[in-house]
Amino acid sequence: LNRRLAGFGTTIFAEMSALALSTGSINLGQGFPDTDGPEEVREAAVRALREGRGNQYPPGPGIPELRTAIAAHQQRRYGLSYDPDTEVLVTAGATEAIAASLLALVEPGDEVVALEPYYDSYAASIALAGGTRVPVTLRPHDGSFRLDLDELRAAVTDRTRLLLINTPHNPTGAVLTRAELAAIAELAVERDLLVVTDEVYEHLVFGDAEHLPLASFPGMRERTVTIGSAGKTFSFTGWKVGWVTATPGLVTAVRSVKQFLTYVSSGPFQYAVAEALALPDSYFEDFRRSMLARRDILAKGLTEAGFEVFVPAGTYFITTDIRPLGEKDGFAFCRTLPGRAGVVAIPNAVFYDDREAGAPFVRFAFCKREEVLREAAERLRAI
Ligand code: PMP
Ligand code: GLN
Repeated sequence: LNRRLAGFGTTIFAEMSALALSTGSINLGQGFPDTDGPEEVREAAVRALREGRGNQYPPGPGIPELRTAIAAHQQRRYGLSYDPDTEVLVTAGATEAIAASLLALVEPGDEVVALEPYYDSYAASIALAGGTRVPVTLRPHDGSFRLDLDELRAAVTDRTRLLLINTPHNPTGAVLTRAELAAIAELAVERDLLVVTDEVYEHLVFGDAEHLPLASFPGMRERTVTIGSAGKTFSFTGWKVGWVTATPGLVTAVRSVKQFLTYVSSGPFQYAVAEALALPDSYFEDFRRSMLARRDILAKGLTEAGFEVFVPAGTYFITTDIRPLGEKDGFAFCRTLPGRAGVVAIPNAVFYDDREAGAPFVRFAFCKREEVLREAAERLRAI
């Protein structure tokens, strides 16, 4: 393995999902739903396969039907207008969108400011691009993790090339507020920075929280690469259909990299996702409501089991603090939890440069059937 990736090892998700399998535990580690997405969307994929649509290389930027559906979704939900022909790119999941964006936009030695804890592929993709990661740590404040805007400002230097933002935020469940996003936008404009914003959980926001795309803030459309994914929104994480929306110049740059990573993304699934994006608003509302009910079941169970729970405003993850249980090392806790309780979780420390800072936090996924969450809660109460 080359020096850029030395030290990254196996992703925690593979390690913990393997542990769940080998111990027969309930897997609340890796974030994937245990119920597949809508039947009609699955049928749309089958129809495309049978009718021979997408069985050979689809167009590099993605099939026109899907690019049009992505643009229509951004318009309908956020009033953001993108040209499907020049401002939309279909990728192999959000993971490829992140990697291709960073490889396209970061020069060796550039600094990339990213919110910490960060989704694990960010660090690896920045490293592959030869960039330097500059974390800005979200910290607990009144029951949720918050961004310190002064710290963000202080993290930007003359070498900063771009800000890598994620809202709703994995793993903390924080949703950036209008004021926070406005401040990020002002900073980006003032320091002339590019922004890559990972909004894969855009449809999973609860209560008073609202998802606001960074690209909708003044001065941002021209400097922002927005990333979405069908995996999260439609519960098909195995399909690996994601996308990028940005200006023609930025999309061309990202596409230049994508063409040499995967060339194109899987064909029949693109037809199905095009149909999924056109589902009525009631689909998105029902999905959100069902995840909210699950969040509440798991949050209650974790609280009763003695964890400190940061009730998430978005995503399908709950971050907890294990110190009230008399524990302090999330890694050790997660390695022994399957044996003690038959439940798998993720130690948030893997999402931190400063592993000490992340040590007491552990993440549980609630994108599981209600009876599974109840059973997990029952088991956790026994620890
Ligand atoms: N970004 C975040 C914040 C995620 O949580 C995930 C999924 N775990 C991804 C990107 C990757 O998405 P995809 O499966 O579409 O590659
Ligand atoms: N995004 C999911 C998570 O955070 C899983 C990602 C993965 O397995 N790479 O759990």
